[in-house]
Amino acid sequence: MVAKGDMVYAWTTSSDIAKVAECGGAVTGLLKFALENDIVDGVLAVKKGVDVYDAVPALITDPAEIAETAGSLHCGTLLLSKLIKKYIGGAEDMRLAVTVKGCDAMGIYELAKRNQVNLDNLLLIGVNCGGTVSPVLARKMI
Ligand SMILES: Cc1cc2nc3c(=O)[nH]c(=O)nc-3n(C[C@H](O)[C@H](O)[C@H](O)COP(=O)(O)OP(=O)(O)OC[C@H]3O[C@@H](n4cnc5c(N)ncnc54)[C@H](O)[C@@H]3O)c2cc1C
Repeated sequence: MVAKGDMVYAWTTSSDIAKVAECGGAVTGLLKFALENDIVDGVLAVKKGVDVYDAVPALITDPAEIAETAGSLHCGTLLLSKLIKKYIGGAEDMRLAVTVKGCDAMGIYELAKRNQVNLDNLLLIGVNCGGTVSPVLARKMI
C-alpha cells in the first residue's frame, strides 16, 4: 500500500505509449487508466501540432487517442486553468483528468477559491516544470 509522501518509480506498461512519451510514460499511462476505468469522462492534455513549437490543448474522451498527447512540449506556454474555465464549463458537469505544470495548478486553485472551477471533478497529475520558453525565443536560441 502506498502512503502519502512515498516516492515510487513508475512507467507505462504500454509499449506504444513508451515509444512516444517523454520519460517512461507514467503520466500518459495514468491518464489512460483513468479514462478506461470511468474514473474521469475526459482528459485535458497537450499535443504536438505542426511541430514542437505548436502546442495544442486537447480534450480526449477516447482512450485510443491518449498516446497523441504523450511527450513534453517545452514551448507550450499554455495556461490550462483558463481553458477549463472558459471552454469546459469549469469542469462543473465533467470529471476531468488534467496534466498540470506548476502554473496550471496554481491557476486552478485560484479559480476554485472563486468557485469558477469545480475541484471535486478534477484529477490533477503534476509534472516537474522548469519553465516554458516562447516559440519565438526558442527558435532564436536554437
Ligand atoms: C513544459 C514542461 C517543462 C518541463 N520541465 C521539466 C524540468 O525542467 N525538469 C524535469 O525534471 N521535468 C520537466 N518536465 C517534466 C518531464 O518532461 C516529463 O513530463 C515528466 O517527467 C513525465 O514523464 P512521462 O514520460 O511520464 O510523461 P508523458 O507520459 O510523456 O506525459 C507528459 C504529459 O505532459 C503534457 N504536456 C506536454 N506539454 C505540456 C505543456 N506545455 N503544458 C502542460 N502539459 C503538457 C502531455 O500532454 C502529457 O500529458 C517538464 C514538462 C513540461 C510539460
